[in-house]
Amino acid sequence: MLCLMDSIRDDDPSVQYLLRVLEDAGSLTALLLAAWQVARLLTVCLVEAVLTERARRPTAWPSCPACGVSGRSKGFATRQVTSLFGPIRWRRRVGRCPQGCAIPQVAPFDEALGVQPYQRSSGELQALGCALAVFVPFATAAKLLGSASGVTVSPRAVWSWVQAAGQQAMEQLQAQLQGLAQGHVPTEEPLAAELAAAPLLMGADGVMVPFRPEGGHPRGKTAWHEIKVGVLARLGRHRTRTGKVVTRLWQRRLVAVFGDFEALQRRLWLEAIRQGILRAPQVVWLSDGARGLWRLFEACFTGYATGILDFYHAAQHLWKGAAAWLDGRTSHARRWFAWARHRLRHGMPDGVLADLADALDVEGLPETARETLRTVYTYLERHREHIDYARYKELGFPLGSGMVESACNWLIQQRFKGVGMRWSETGFNHLLHLRLAWVNGHFEALFGVALSPNP
Ligand SMILES: [Zn+2]
Repeated sequence: MLCLMDSIRDDDPSVQYLLRVLEDAGSLTALLLAAWQVARLLTVCLVEAVLTERARRPTAWPSCPACGVSGRSKGFATRQVTSLFGPIRWRRRVGRCPQGCAIPQVAPFDEALGVQPYQRSSGELQALGCALAVFVPFATAAKLLGSASGVTVSPRAVWSWVQAAGQQAMEQLQAQLQGLAQGHVPTEEPLAAELAAAPLLMGADGVMVPFRPEGGHPRGKTAWHEIKVGVLARLGRHRTRTGKVVTRLWQRRLVAVFGDFEALQRRLWLEAIRQGILRAPQVVWLSDGARGLWRLFEACFTGYATGILDFYHAAQHLWKGAAAWLDGRTSHARRWFAWARHRLRHGMPDGVLADLADALDVEGLPETARETLRTVYTYLERHREHIDYARYKELGFPLGSGMVESACNWLIQQRFKGVGMRWSETGFNHLLHLRLAWVNGHFEALFGVALSPNP
């Protein structure tokens, strides 16, 4: 620490210069920014002073992996790492095998500091760069990081940090999925009592993402692929300032995969256990009519959850039926539709189904109209268990899957569908898993750093 005090007092010209800028700063903003420059320099000075002091302590040399003889010092060498506060330099002992084995030079002090060989930027810089890249393009993230840290960061550097951290997140998930497949039940995420008593809402949706053509070549026609996204949340009630009670999603957790429904299903099930599906008082599954999603529901959640078919989606089908049967231009069609929709919503879905069945028996109905009507009837009949809207309303469940869809959409839309963006499968996956780590609250654990100073 002595070096620090000395340099503030007298001779370090860079500190003296920054202090003068600070004294001359006019506006509050200029004052704060000037003080920040001083703080940055002092931080570097402080850290370097501590490192210098520690590096002088005796070194415990590891034994050589080839011959087993304890390593020997070859003297001090300089190490530099770019940090959030500027470049940090320190000198520490490096050693080699005294028998001359062909092993790389070792630096036990770096290892104790958690610095990898060839690592050029420190953990907090990488973590902040990745956090920015979760929300903004790599070039913007690099620029923001550069202006916060005062060092030049290239978009390529941010990109490579994202690749490394995303890969790590994917490996962790793989290990958890494998563990679950072998019967290791994951630990539930802790929940406040009032949230644990709230219903668990689940749902999923597909979102299209633009990818580079096959083979990852940057030119050629964009290949659109569907990313499957699932959401799990506790259904909370929130009273707005005008006194209206609205449904809110708390403890929102997302899963996503560039893959098929089976891949989504395994991830959803893993997260559902973490979110307490085995003990939640009520579980609700909400989705539109997509076949794959309902197959997933039947395969995995039917024993736990009440499935609700999105009401607006069901009503849309009803209108298709009305238009085919009674001619959509007529008031007769509109009247029947309004009546059917009302009964569907208020606990009489069987009446609606009976109407449709009767309509199918009408003679002289054109074959195309009959075809449409049959489709609508089969659709509602197949979902008979999922259209008891009056009961769901009574239980306080939402009837529309809008919340599910917007949560799924947001995960992808906000970052992956910017103008001109096209992804490689690997690049997409790595960033996707970092984004999931962020929204699910695992981000800081992934980097082993706390970006916010509050506990
Ligand atoms: Zn050796």
